[in-house]
Amino acid sequence: MLARKLKCVTCGANKVNELKSSYIFCDYCASFMGYEFSLLEDETKKAFDMEYFLSHNNTWPPETAEYMDATQKMAAAMQSKDTELFISSFIKYQDVAMKIMPGNYSPKMKNATYKAAYLKYLEALFRDKLADGYFEEMEENNKRFAAAQEKIKTEIIAGKPMMTYDENFEKYIDEVFAYCRESAQKTVQYPSINLYPEEMSNAVTDMILKQGVAPYARMLKPEDFEKLVKYLGFQTEYIEIPDVKTIPQNCAFCAAELKIAEGAKFVMCEYCGNKNQAGAKAISCVNCAATFDPDEAGSRNKCPYCGSLVQAL
Ligand SMILES: [Zn+2]
Ligand SMILES: [Zn+2]
Ligand SMILES: [Zn+2]
Repeated sequence: MLARKLKCVTCGANKVNELKSSYIFCDYCASFMGYEFSLLEDETKKAFDMEYFLSHNNTWPPETAEYMDATQKMAAAMQSKDTELFISSFIKYQDVAMKIMPGNYSPKMKNATYKAAYLKYLEALFRDKLADGYFEEMEENNKRFAAAQEKIKTEIIAGKPMMTYDENFEKYIDEVFAYCRESAQKTVQYPSINLYPEEMSNAVTDMILKQGVAPYARMLKPEDFEKLVKYLGFQTEYIEIPDVKTIPQNCAFCAAELKIAEGAKFVMCEYCGNKNQAGAKAISCVNCAATFDPDEAGSRNKCPYCGSLVQAL
């Protein structure tokens, strides 16, 4: 069978199951394995629902309006160099973006505990960045990329300005990407990285870098974005591996059907973002009827949803 030319940083396994998002998790130990662009969704059309806008007196759905408001506040904070306003609106922006564009984020964000930890990390990261002259850096960037940006041709496709992929675009990307590299390197050196809610590995550093490129998926035609991914050397490569047998198991948290590879210990449910133990039976809470992993109940002896005492079978 064909598998991605990618090994798990924790256990060395191949990725054998198909992906549900751009975030790749190991089918044997549930570790984060990496990020790829193949399933990057443009969810902006859904979030900016034109039909809703026109039928609601030119207003966006409530969450989209909150998102717009947060971006405006971020821009204002940047202008006035207001650290606290920037932090609060940035966190709000991320929080709403995860709701209206969930496909852009790791499925783990669907787990409330993980999401809260991740937002806490983001706040700490931006406090580090701001202390390191983030506002000035952004001003500097605007100047730094202006000349290259001016040379990019755009065309209006379906009412949206799209960049044209040509030599000038590549020159611009060279500059932007050099900055992304610097920035990704700094990100993993700030003290805030200790709050990152996942084990640090090359897979995470690589993802941070690739996330800098992801927004261009919305500014380029799909075939042009593919060219960009290739230009940067981020295209998915495959290798031939012996066939792997998988058996179905329902997620202990959301009941979605998971494929468990033979020999797997843990598997990440990409529907709800929770880690499942291979071969484990789910426990049901007699009080609220929620189902969850016995490991989770065993460590706390409590239903993670309502707090009732549960007995591990
Ligand atoms: Zn693994
Ligand atoms: Zn699930
Ligand atoms: Zn319960």
